[in-house]
Amino acid sequence: MGEGAYAWGTQSFAAFDSTVLVIDTDEGLSGVGEICPLGPSYLPTYAEGARTGIELLARDLIGEDPLAIDVLNHKMDALMKGHPYVKSAIDMACWDLLGKATGLPVCELLGGRFTDQVRLFRVISRDTPDNMVAKLKDHRADGFMQFQMKVGEHPDVDIERMRAVCGELRDDEVLAADANTGWKQHEAIRVMQSTADLPLYIEQPCLSYEECLVVRQHTMQPIILDECMDSLRTLLRGVADGAMDLINLKISRAGGLTRARQIRDLCVSLGIVMTIEDTWGGEIATAAIAHLAGSTPTGFHFQSSPFHTYATISIADGGPVVKDGHMSVSTAPGLGVEPIFDVR
Ligand code: MG
Repeated sequence: MGEGAYAWGTQSFAAFDSTVLVIDTDEGLSGVGEICPLGPSYLPTYAEGARTGIELLARDLIGEDPLAIDVLNHKMDALMKGHPYVKSAIDMACWDLLGKATGLPVCELLGGRFTDQVRLFRVISRDTPDNMVAKLKDHRADGFMQFQMKVGEHPDVDIERMRAVCGELRDDEVLAADANTGWKQHEAIRVMQSTADLPLYIEQPCLSYEECLVVRQHTMQPIILDECMDSLRTLLRGVADGAMDLINLKISRAGGLTRARQIRDLCVSLGIVMTIEDTWGGEIATAAIAHLAGSTPTGFHFQSSPFHTYATISIADGGPVVKDGHMSVSTAPGLGVEPIFDVR
């Protein structure tokens, strides 16, 4: 990836290890999927684990019908408990195949096209307050109007960061402060009470759902839950508790497009707005994001991330085109991407 290190919460990484999976069929079609964990310490997910798990599952999946995607997901769950990120790339490749077999873009298969232009946000990596303000200006100059600033390192500096970046924010722009689990409960309450006058969304203040809920009960800002939204049950619990206003839906954490669509549809029915993205990725994972976001009712889609534009290498042709803070949703069959195999 480019732009130097990516720093969030208390962590920082300079590069990410992505796995591209291709399913070849006896009818001559190929489907492609991608899984790129945000390093091994962000979620219970790591790149080598994805490859080992895919290899293990593949032994029992070869010969199955890739278009019977629910059947395939049931089989994967029977073969391997948990590890949704392992199953995500396989599921994604099956959706690509289904699109190619039917001549339809994945977006159409996921329910239809609400938009051709998916609203994006740009990450402002954790840095000094002044440098973060400068980054917002850079991203604005690139056409972005929604931003996610990374905080969660030190409460006092975070308050300075949030005040500084909000001071630069225009009325028509949107800013979330993502702590990525970095604050303890008392720190989150203190930071949020100190910044209650700012027009900010707050994302995943603390590590656990329970801590985030206590923070929610003591503060007023709109809350996005991300890392702790790790299952359908947690989503339902969050809705029942009124724990959040929005969630961050990551395709690989859900286990692929099939399960992400299930969560997406439930969120629409329950009135929960979504950031739709993944743990990271190149053109392939980003195309999957574009198709899921493009098939989501516009009012329920908050923003998405153009991960492939952070990367220093291109892993596929046909990735979403980013312009004026939005990315395109391909009209080609499947995901609309063609992997480039000779890159390292
Ligand atoms: Mg987040």
